[in-house]
Amino acid sequence: MSIEHPSFGKLDENRIIIFDTTLRDGEQSPGFSMNLAEKLRMAEALTGLGIDVMEAGFPIASPGDFEAVKAIAETIGIRDDSPVICGLARSGREDILRAAEAVRPARRKRIHSFLSTSPLHMKYKLRMEPDEVLAAVADSVTLARQFTDDVEWSAEDGTRTDPDFLCRCVEAAIRAGATTINVPDTVGYALPEDITRIFTMLRERVPGTEKIILSTHNHNDLGLAVANTIAAIRAGVRQVEATINGIGERAGNASLEEAVMAIRTRHDAIPFDNNIETRNILKVSKLLSAITSFDVQPNKAIVGRNAFAHEAGIHQDGVLKHAATYEIMTPESVGWNKSSLVMGKHSGRAAFRDKLATLGYSIGDNQLNDAFRRFKDLADRKKVVYDEDIVALVDDEVLRDHQRIRFVSLDIHAGSKVPQRAELELEIDGVIKRAVSTGDGPVDATFRAIHELFPHTANLVLFSVGAVTEGTDAQAKTTVRLEENGKLVDGQGADTDTIVASARAYVHALNKLLVKRVRTAPQALSA
Ligand code: MN
Repeated sequence: MSIEHPSFGKLDENRIIIFDTTLRDGEQSPGFSMNLAEKLRMAEALTGLGIDVMEAGFPIASPGDFEAVKAIAETIGIRDDSPVICGLARSGREDILRAAEAVRPARRKRIHSFLSTSPLHMKYKLRMEPDEVLAAVADSVTLARQFTDDVEWSAEDGTRTDPDFLCRCVEAAIRAGATTINVPDTVGYALPEDITRIFTMLRERVPGTEKIILSTHNHNDLGLAVANTIAAIRAGVRQVEATINGIGERAGNASLEEAVMAIRTRHDAIPFDNNIETRNILKVSKLLSAITSFDVQPNKAIVGRNAFAHEAGIHQDGVLKHAATYEIMTPESVGWNKSSLVMGKHSGRAAFRDKLATLGYSIGDNQLNDAFRRFKDLADRKKVVYDEDIVALVDDEVLRDHQRIRFVSLDIHAGSKVPQRAELELEIDGVIKRAVSTGDGPVDATFRAIHELFPHTANLVLFSVGAVTEGTDAQAKTTVRLEENGKLVDGQGADTDTIVASARAYVHALNKLLVKRVRTAPQALSA
């Protein structure tokens, strides 16, 4: 049995479509928003990973979302190696037209329309009767099909939907021309057996399911997202929706790397194939962490720092004798290797530019000069410069459009003899300003100095410090989250000096607050 798909052609029955929604479901969660340049870099990395469909955003949600989807469609979407570029839309006409316009430049494009089908959502969120919902399903898919043959329809809150009604909605969507039907566990409530029952039912009861791709989209509120994804595959689903590092609404989505490695490692029990180049997994995971400044937890499967670390002596002994004693997959198969040492203080500007290109950066000469100067400075101070160091450094230096405030210099008096004092210079709208502040510790003194130079009402709600790489000469990577009138922004800074990194992160966050990113539509409720 095989399916003829508008974007993929003849699909083998064992082929799993990997649908990545890092840039949509992932990006819309607090602290994970990305600017256009950052989205383009992630999109490039995801393309290199071999995903089949890239949900690039929710075009109606804001002008920024629209521009990002369009830019991805125009740049990556026209290439031979591009995944299908997908835009999300609610069922209204405006949503679908906006999504269609955003993905239009792509060679292969998908419109993904969704509507809630559960009693709770229909009554309280949509305030629609079931018959109205049913009509809207057909109308939205029919309209979307005018722009592309590849149309996905999702029953939002599908796992809490009345089974008979779910069957009717899915049938209506297929009749209207949907080529992928997704039943999301939007609230992360389902158990694996629920997922099995729902997809088995749809395949048995709804005419036409044998000609389309069924899709699963699971949230991790109970830690079951990947387990539910595997259950869905075994129940006949051939598209998996997932995100890098499992980011997404609330507790996140099914983690792409975990789902893919479960299929690959347990191919004996889950005999399905996909196009993911698993050796690129770690690189993409780290890029996402660098861009968003949120590391995965150390014990995170596949990509966590400890995922392949063996601490117990008896385990270490076993691994040295034969890796398979305690390793079910090799670290190399997902991209871990001993050294990503790349550059030193003798590396020239051309090599640096080349390196940036392979890391997904394309920057102008001025930004390159600034970044190169800081790289040389770093190479003088730090013996070994890793890819991660360069990503942190360049993120810190460039890709900051519209910055009104620039960090110039910082001198700190710290230690156990109070008071700690910060002498800070910032350039604000082109004018260098200087302040001296004391505080409860050097970070507090520095942040007070920033306040003095640029008075503002934002509240500091999160301050975290991590190390980019290992060793006492590692760069500190700091995150500062500011809140103003309900708007949250995260700023990041990197430097071998933790306090300087903190000042840079604070300034970065302030600059982001100054560039208001306003969502024009109601909250971007996910499918
Ligand atoms: Mn979702």
